[in-house]
Amino acid sequence: MEELLSIRMRATKKVQSPKSKVKSKKSKITEVHISGAEGLYRRSEILTTAKRYIERALNHPKGRADRIVITIEDIGRKPQEIQLLPVATVRCDTPAEGEEIAGFLLQSLGISKRAIERAFALFKCGNMRGASLITAKQGRRLEPDPERGVRASRLGIDTAILKGLSFRLQRFGINTEIVKEALILASKVISSGQVIAELCMSDDPDYTTGYVASRRYGYLRIPHIKHKGSSRGGRAFFVNEGAQVKRIITYLEQMPVLVTKAAHCRGIISKDEILGSYNK
Ligand code: AMP
Repeated sequence: MEELLSIRMRATKKVQSPKSKVKSKKSKITEVHISGAEGLYRRSEILTTAKRYIERALNHPKGRADRIVITIEDIGRKPQEIQLLPVATVRCDTPAEGEEIAGFLLQSLGISKRAIERAFALFKCGNMRGASLITAKQGRRLEPDPERGVRASRLGIDTAILKGLSFRLQRFGINTEIVKEALILASKVISSGQVIAELCMSDDPDYTTGYVASRRYGYLRIPHIKHKGSSRGGRAFFVNEGAQVKRIITYLEQMPVLVTKAAHCRGIISKDEILGSYNK
């Protein structure tokens, strides 16, 4: 296997915190997360990938970044090989229905109402760089830095597998960077064996499709999970109460992982079809 490098991008913007305007005349400047991206690439892909990431940072609907950091790093070891999660889209027409479907799927995986509500409440605030680690029963947050969260990083996909995936997604009109990157990310998160499910709602005001990912159901897209124009969003990784936090974070952030095995893609299915096919 050819040597791979980790390429990461982070774009931020400095803004005046609204609270400090009221309390004191001194303005407090905070850094807002605008955009981030990462992947494993061959040396020959460095320039095109860095350009693509910079363009993304410069044209993000969340605003104009004033700081863009690109990190290019040798991963120094052979990546662990994993399989993609199978993809399907759940029929959903409104945000209320979207939250209900997400809640329903997560509860069927043993995640409590309390933990789910915690995740959605966090999504209202937005502006995290990474995901929150939430315990499945009590809804406790475990990540050491709650403002930053945990980032799934050092992840990529084999070129031939990506080609096949693009072809299959094309049939359903969802062959986009957003879908492919999120699917690779979710596949790494679930491959940890420590995350029961991931809930994602993009904080991009123009992108209203979220997803629930899990070993049992695969990657289930949920269209219209939020209203267009809303900057709500975030990611939650649900783990067992006794989860080994350090081990999970080391895997998600440090372990290089490459998708080398494909999975099937389906079109739009109903919530009942999903449950029906797993209860047989
Ligand atoms: P996005 O899908 O890029 O709009 O991201 C939505 C939210 O997911 C972000 O605001 C972050 O909180 C979180 N997020 C983005 N990228 C990652 C990542 N690589 N690992 C963990 N969480 C992430």
